[in-house]
Amino acid sequence: MTVGLVVQKFGGTSVGDAERIRAVADHVARTRRQGHDVVVVVSAMGKFTDELLRLADEVSPTRPPRELDMLLTAGERISMALVCMALTANGVESASFTGSQAGIITDTDHTRAKILEMRPDRIREALAAGQVPVVAGFQGVSTAKDITTLGRGGSDVTAVALAAALNADVCEIYTDVTGVFSADPRVVPKAQRLAKVSFDEMMEMAATGGRVLMLRSVEYAQRHGVPLHVRSSFTWEPGTWIVEEDPTMEQAVVSAVTDDTSEAKVTIGGVPDRPGVAARLFGELANRGINLDMIVQNTGENGLTDISFTVAVLDVDAARDACEAVRSEVGATKVTTDINIGRVTVVGAGMKSNPGVTALMFETLSSIGVNIQMISTSSIRISCVVAADRVEESVRALHSAFGLDRVGP
Ligand code: ASP
Ligand code: MG
Repeated sequence: MTVGLVVQKFGGTSVGDAERIRAVADHVARTRRQGHDVVVVVSAMGKFTDELLRLADEVSPTRPPRELDMLLTAGERISMALVCMALTANGVESASFTGSQAGIITDTDHTRAKILEMRPDRIREALAAGQVPVVAGFQGVSTAKDITTLGRGGSDVTAVALAAALNADVCEIYTDVTGVFSADPRVVPKAQRLAKVSFDEMMEMAATGGRVLMLRSVEYAQRHGVPLHVRSSFTWEPGTWIVEEDPTMEQAVVSAVTDDTSEAKVTIGGVPDRPGVAARLFGELANRGINLDMIVQNTGENGLTDISFTVAVLDVDAARDACEAVRSEVGATKVTTDINIGRVTVVGAGMKSNPGVTALMFETLSSIGVNIQMISTSSIRISCVVAADRVEESVRALHSAFGLDRVGP
């Protein structure tokens, strides 16, 4: 790689203790010796954000969002100061910056703020002065001058946003796995590391259970053309590049199989099959701020139909309440929920030009006797909802049916 500007983001496990922090500082120093300018973005140490949330719960069941954000941003601030100390010990000049100091301006939506503008003047000044700026991830300052957080996993967004604003050559995301895999290696021992994934594929993977990158950070990276490199801070070996799809290259039909058991299914039954019903029902869910994922309306019989949709398990009670609230008005007969579901998904940019993927997916699930409850597709993804306790074997069967199993030991 030619000399350039690299944003290096280190996740919670990468800065989990003093030794890990020293290893990070060594790596940053090494990168500098290769001639690159480096901007570091850090997460909170280990599970510190979860601990702060637990502490907040212990103090009070009400958690004013402004104060919650102020509390949670402390985690990343601890990391940034410690990393700077370790860098100093390595003879690398550095300076820490909060999200606010780094010029990350957000809206006022506490706990899940969106970035409105980047004004990283102080980061540029630090770079010009030959320093390594170390930025606290996951946070910004709102247009109302309050401290905000960007949502769980938001340090990825901080890193990508800085890379975009500073026109960095690459945004490296350091984590505890060696890259993006063709399936979760804990579920599929024969999963392989992917050398390259397109932004579109990565977004589908992040949205359907891939746990390596926060979805919003991938969207942001694609929009601003920031190449991402996901790699391990334990082995430091090259990992997975996430880049714009190369139209001249042959695409794998299926690149990855993902799984997700964090959703539940809600079914509203005996709904009259007439205009306005879905609008009323989903309007109510939207008013209550409930995010839906898959939606299926069954074919009607005798003028009645069933509508099923999936929501995060955490939202299932709220979704049931919303359906119950409009049930008699829309004339539906019953509302049922099922939290014992899971979703298996195959993702691949080559699907666009290769028919037969759907058929092979259904055949594979049927060959192991797995019943498909819901289906949804995009041009490069097919998802099936199945019983939760059949998810893992479904993923393994699909991984092997689509030829993704690693050969050899
Ligand atoms: N520390 C925050 C979290 O645990 C942000 C991050 O790690 O990206 O969600
Ligand atoms: Mg993360």
